[in-house]
Amino acid sequence: NSRGDSGADVAIVGAGLTGCLLACYLARRGERVRLFERRADPRLTGAERGRSINLALSERGLDALRRIGLEHAVLADALPMRGRMIHPAGDPDGELDFQPYSADGERAINSISRGALNNALLDAAQALPEVEVFFEHRLDRFDPATGALCFDTPTGPVRPEAAVVLGADGAGSAVRGELLRHDATTETLDFLDYGYKELTIPAVGGEFALDPGALHIWPRGRSMMIALPNPDRSFTCTLFWPTSGTASFASLSSPAAVQRYFAEQYPDVVPLVPDLVTEYRENPVGLLGTVQCAPWQTGGRVCLLGDAAHAIVPFYGQGANCAFEDVVVLDACLDRTGGDWSAALPLFDAERRADTEAIAQMALANFVEMRDKVASPAFKLGKRVEHALERALPGRYVSRYELVSFSTTPYSAVRRRVRLQHRLLGAGAAGVLGLLGTVGALTTRWRRS
Ligand code: FAD
Repeated sequence: NSRGDSGADVAIVGAGLTGCLLACYLARRGERVRLFERRADPRLTGAERGRSINLALSERGLDALRRIGLEHAVLADALPMRGRMIHPAGDPDGELDFQPYSADGERAINSISRGALNNALLDAAQALPEVEVFFEHRLDRFDPATGALCFDTPTGPVRPEAAVVLGADGAGSAVRGELLRHDATTETLDFLDYGYKELTIPAVGGEFALDPGALHIWPRGRSMMIALPNPDRSFTCTLFWPTSGTASFASLSSPAAVQRYFAEQYPDVVPLVPDLVTEYRENPVGLLGTVQCAPWQTGGRVCLLGDAAHAIVPFYGQGANCAFEDVVVLDACLDRTGGDWSAALPLFDAERRADTEAIAQMALANFVEMRDKVASPAFKLGKRVEHALERALPGRYVSRYELVSFSTTPYSAVRRRVRLQHRLLGAGAAGVLGLLGTVGALTTRWRRS
């Protein structure tokens, strides 16, 4: 591609989900963008084994895509999931429990492969004359004071410079590493003692083996498995389990142990995964954790976005949604500062941080809900009451799930609102109980008199 000749010269490191969307947004502003990616072109090479990752794309991500006219193209590769399908423990023929995500039962999150989404965004970015994409460029060194970059490439080091450098290179960000090395930021990494492994449920006779309209969950307390549908009628399962200890990924050392474990914990899955033992042995265990780093920006010319700035655990299905929202927020900051990067980056850092901290905490809390609570009668009753309240008080009582997944209410405002709703409900319930107590006492007195 040839580049336009107006705007700043922006280098984006990482052509993943965040980097590609960012390139599209900035090109629209007339910025000249160079997008550097360490991998070869994924449209030619495909996904890594066991790292296909299905994403649940919801309103925040869709909103970001819609604003630049990409929503429909992306949704063409997605499958709507209107609720959770809970697979009970113990009985392989036990009744499945469908729990709708929204009060009206209609709203859906969308299952899409990370690879397909990335490819669609790469196509969109590369079609723009302002954007140049460089594959097989792995950031090695970077000086935040001068903007001097050094990439390893198959033909040796390449040393471009840029007026603005944006790090969209994921949870293990090299840009963040370089900011740390130059004392320009600080970071905290909190790894879970849980990892994840992918398994595949292929189509059976050309059809889905499970209901494709739901996100399937096998909550087992210490472990949990989920499955999301794919357009080829397969499901990608993700098993979450501790990485070490007596019952963990490390504890299954033979094919028989793998078979035994799945037969005990996930008996209805065993007949659906023909390559269970091979996949279990060959697919890697991925790590899960939360990245916090402050500041994200330095000197008004370097900034981290997406997972590079704030990777979170995947249990609310929000990592990519949140990363896409980062791009929308940065675009708004550029609007508000008349396109002045030196003012926009500090503004972005100041205004976005509370929201990313809020979703990081909600994502951790949702892990406990998904692996432990979703199958309990108290949880199911609670959800039914919540949906009844939403229908009775439309727009006034809205569940946390709906606010996170089906709105663009800032994450920190979601947390505040949900706390307030719970306080009011608590006060209401206390009031009702108090009233019942008073009525009871009066009735007793009246009977005695
Ligand atoms: P990445 O996707 O990691 O992309 C970073 C890019 O930078 C990559 O292309 C990489 O090759 C490149 N790169 C890295 N280092 C360098 C370097 N040195 N030089 C040049 N390029 C480099 N999110 C959701 O919204 N919904 C979900 O349901 C969901 N489920 C998930 C399930 C799992 C198991 C996991 C692990 C994550 C899930 N996520 C989900 C999170 C989502 O995948 C991430 O938030 C998202 O991919 C972040 O995008 P990113 O572009 O910031 O980072």
